[in-house]
Amino acid sequence: MIIGVPKEIKNNENRVALTPAGVTEFKKHGHTVYVQTSAGEGSGFADAEYEKAGATILPSIEAVYEIAEMIIKVKEPIESEYTLIKENQLLFTYFHFASSEPLTHAMISRKAICLAYETVEKADRSLPLLVPMSEVAGRMAIHEGAKYLEKPLKGRGILLGGVPGVRPANVLVLGGGVVGMQAARMAAGLGANVTIMDVSLPRLRYLNEIMPANVNTVYSNEYNIREHIKHASLIVGAVLIPGAKAPHLITRDMLKDMNPGTVLVDVAVDQGGCIETCKPTTHENPTYIIDDVVHYCVANMPGAVPYTSTLALTNATLPYALQLANKGWAKACRENAELKLGLNVIGDKVVYKGVADAWGLPL
Ligand code: NAD
Repeated sequence: MIIGVPKEIKNNENRVALTPAGVTEFKKHGHTVYVQTSAGEGSGFADAEYEKAGATILPSIEAVYEIAEMIIKVKEPIESEYTLIKENQLLFTYFHFASSEPLTHAMISRKAICLAYETVEKADRSLPLLVPMSEVAGRMAIHEGAKYLEKPLKGRGILLGGVPGVRPANVLVLGGGVVGMQAARMAAGLGANVTIMDVSLPRLRYLNEIMPANVNTVYSNEYNIREHIKHASLIVGAVLIPGAKAPHLITRDMLKDMNPGTVLVDVAVDQGGCIETCKPTTHENPTYIIDDVVHYCVANMPGAVPYTSTLALTNATLPYALQLANKGWAKACRENAELKLGLNVIGDKVVYKGVADAWGLPL
């Protein structure tokens, strides 16, 4: 198959959908790979590395779309790309169709085959192509939180791990899923005193088994949250209710119970946030302050660490991309139920229920 890797053009997107290592794998299976010039630059991969791995570098995004049977990307196509997409071209990327009606209609009108990373789903209902970005965001939440706790950045001026003779900071993690577990592990590694809250008792039991001694698990309810926020210096929001907006576990009135300079990192901001006062921010301007409490609510946290994020994402996407290239999308999806769930649009039809329901389209 002919694979095309365009450079991401969405604002501030530095990830790339294929690394030179990925090119080597495609070549081993007899495929041809075209990469747009400088596509890997933002993630630290030069054109020369792709060429060395066996790819051909093309000068423009138009040239990549023109020649490729399968386009592998990171983010959904943006408007200027719509007209480059050809009938029956396979697009394998994050789409998030349920949050964009114009994108859904644009892909239907291009009659492409759209396989969305975010809906590839395993039998245990986990989402293997979302997990790596949650892992990145969870770990990053603690870096960012630690940074904004510094006094010059308006934080409380507290070091997460303390020092000999000085108590460590308290870190509260709301939600003990992928993001929460990674955040707790990082905070614990720095020596903080960590509490994870979740509503799932099996999950709390599991976390209790595997986490180090400086991590405690507490059932998530309003009473416990109100108690813990009084003493926490860093609070990480990592709650998810699949298919729904995140519940506001921290309400506006709770801010006054926190110490001035407390930092809130609401990773769940992309689902509306689990902190009522959270609104999406960007890497250029990541924080704002309400009632002396620092809010960090960047909606695309992994974008700040494109090298790590690209490798983490492509580790997960490559095995699926290889199946698509080796068998063609139709056979690959017939033989792999996980991939089949990734199909969102085939030609001029939406085939994913959540997307059809979102925009009142027939299935
Ligand atoms: P996950 O499904 O692995 O974990 C969510 C956890 O929240 C589950 O353990 C669930 O039991 C728990 N939960 C549900 N209701 C709760 C409540 N009332 N109190 C406490 N816990 C509760 O999800 P995840 O992969 O960890 O993702 C968490 C959020 O982070 C999602 O909204 C995801 O989209 C977001 N995310 C954001 C970024 C970013 O850049 N901002 C990056 C990756 C993921």
